[in-house]
Amino acid sequence: MQNIHTHTWNQALHMAPETVREADLSRGRPLDLTVLVDAYIEDIAPFDRVVTFGLKGRLTGYWVPDDYVADFVAQVNTRAPGKAVGFASCDPTQEGAMEELVHAVEDLGLQGLKLGPIYAGFDPRSLGCESIYAYCEQRCLPILFHTGTTYNRAAPLGVSRPWLLDEIAIRFPELRMVMAHLGHPFYEECLVVIRKHPHLYADISALFYRPWQFYNMLITAQEYNVTHKLLFGSDYPFAGAQESVQGLRNVNLITAESGLPRVTEATIEGILNRDALGLLGVSR
Ligand SMILES: [Zn+2]
Repeated sequence: MQNIHTHTWNQALHMAPETVREADLSRGRPLDLTVLVDAYIEDIAPFDRVVTFGLKGRLTGYWVPDDYVADFVAQVNTRAPGKAVGFASCDPTQEGAMEELVHAVEDLGLQGLKLGPIYAGFDPRSLGCESIYAYCEQRCLPILFHTGTTYNRAAPLGVSRPWLLDEIAIRFPELRMVMAHLGHPFYEECLVVIRKHPHLYADISALFYRPWQFYNMLITAQEYNVTHKLLFGSDYPFAGAQESVQGLRNVNLITAESGLPRVTEATIEGILNRDALGLLGVSR
C-alpha cells in the first residue's frame, strides 16, 4: 500500500498563531499538529511508500521550509529505508519561489511539489506559474494541488476549484498532477476533470469522516468510470492511517439496508493497492 498525502511540520515554527487558532476552532478543540518522527513512523507502518510534504502559503500563515521536509524525510528513511518520498512546496506569489524549488529538487533531492493555491492566494492558471509547471513537466515531478475548501478565513475559495486545473492539463499534457481531497465539496468538478486527462489524478485523503459525502463521491466516481484515477492518502496528522483505511473499507455502512448502490470491492481495494507513485512517475 502507498499513501500519497501526509504532512510534516512544527506548529510553533511553521504556522502563524492566527492559523493555529482557526484550525482549533474548525476542529472544536485544540490539537498540536506538530509531526514527530516516532509517531509518524508508527502511523505509516501499513504502507510501503509514503509521500511527505509541508506547505507554503504566506497569505494564510503556513511556511514549512524545504530543508525541514528533506531533513524529516532523511530521519524517517534512516529507520524505514526508502519509505518516505519528500515533496517540495512553493508559493508562487513570493519572491524567489522558482529558485527555492530548484534548490529543493536539485540540492535536497525532493521528488515532487505540493501547491496550495487557496493557502497562498493565486490562480493556478496564472502566467506566473508557467515556469513552475514547465520545470516539473520536464523533470517528471508530480504536483499535488490542494483543491477544494479549507477553514482559513483569508483563503479565497475561488482559486480552489478543480476545474481550474483543466487548462493546465491542456497546456502541460505530460505533467502528472493530483487533486487532493477530491476537490471537496466540488467533487463532481474534480471527477469530470480527471476523466479528461490521462495524467490527472485525485486523492481521497481526509474525506472518510464525512461519510455521506464520501460515499457519494465514490459512487459518482464509479458512474463516471474514473475509479482507476483515485489514489489513497491519509492527510496525516489530520487523519491517521488506520482510521483512513478503515473509513474507506466501511464506506457502505451508511447505506444500511436502504437498497442504495454500493461502492464495489474492486473500487475500494483498487484505491488501496494502486501503485500511485508509479503512475506519477516517481522513481525510487
Ligand atoms: Zn493535506
